[in-house]
Amino acid sequence: MPTVETVRGTVDVSALGRTLMHEHVFVLAAEHVQNYGAAAWWDEEERVQDAVAKLRAAVAKGITTIVDPTVWGLGRYIPRVQRIAEQVPELNIVVATGLYSYDEVPHQYEHRGPGLLVDMPEPMVEDFTRDIVEGIAGTGVKAAFLKCVVEAKGLTPGVERIARAVARTHRETGAPITVHTSSPAQAGRLAVDLFAKEGVDLSKVVIGHAGDTNDLDYLMELADTGAILGMDRFGLDVYNSTPDRVRTIAALCERGYADRMVLSHDASCFIDYWAGAHDQVRSTMPNWQFEHISDEVLPALRELGVSDAQLDQMLVGNPRRYFTRGI
Ligand SMILES: [Zn+2]
Repeated sequence: MPTVETVRGTVDVSALGRTLMHEHVFVLAAEHVQNYGAAAWWDEEERVQDAVAKLRAAVAKGITTIVDPTVWGLGRYIPRVQRIAEQVPELNIVVATGLYSYDEVPHQYEHRGPGLLVDMPEPMVEDFTRDIVEGIAGTGVKAAFLKCVVEAKGLTPGVERIARAVARTHRETGAPITVHTSSPAQAGRLAVDLFAKEGVDLSKVVIGHAGDTNDLDYLMELADTGAILGMDRFGLDVYNSTPDRVRTIAALCERGYADRMVLSHDASCFIDYWAGAHDQVRSTMPNWQFEHISDEVLPALRELGVSDAQLDQMLVGNPRRYFTRGI
């Protein structure tokens, strides 16, 4: 039986169950916390306990796996996620490797690589591969998938270098890919084109944030390549409202695309973008949390004619297929 790596170790893909395919435990930059957070808005113990409570609440709603694409650029720190995972044993947490940048590569990679000051094979491929094959930073936790970005700026030299490194690591390890995209800029098209040229198996690519648009032609064009649409920002109404997101998914189900969509919120237990104003900002977006899909979205989809079998496909079947190597 195929297996997938999680924070607590290897599990059978059939054990993933109801899976939210794009959530963050924490989005939290170490430099931000060390310099400005520790004495002000960041209380480690309080936030860890808060995360445990939020994830237990998701489990109580029937969620058994979250897939967390927090990589470099979003503040990945596995030991903290391990502490939380230990306290929510009913939940699988799947973690990623890769790089989150809308434009340039971080300086730590800028001068190292083929033909650069430190002339060497692409160090990103080496680092991503180590995370997948050996584990992340001595924690023993292995990344199960790769993450990169193609945003409104398109394929800048930095974005392209990262995406090619992700594609190569996918080819060499078989790990699937999630790419954050800007749907208003239709950047998913650029991502799919580049991955196709790089020999990526497009059925192993989630086009992240595809659900921010209701343009069915664009979405069907992407899905027709074999890629999976990330309908993954439920509750982030500033980009697209829940009723519109629901209508778009129902329309795609009707057209036979239930096997090309996954569901999620892109929520986090804590995100440091708002620092001390975090809880205040979050209160203005009450549905941007891990229970919204279970509580409101699934009933709304059923009301528009989406069947239980189609919901299962999006929540269980598609995640399982995505994480099954070699099919
Ligand atoms: Zn995200």
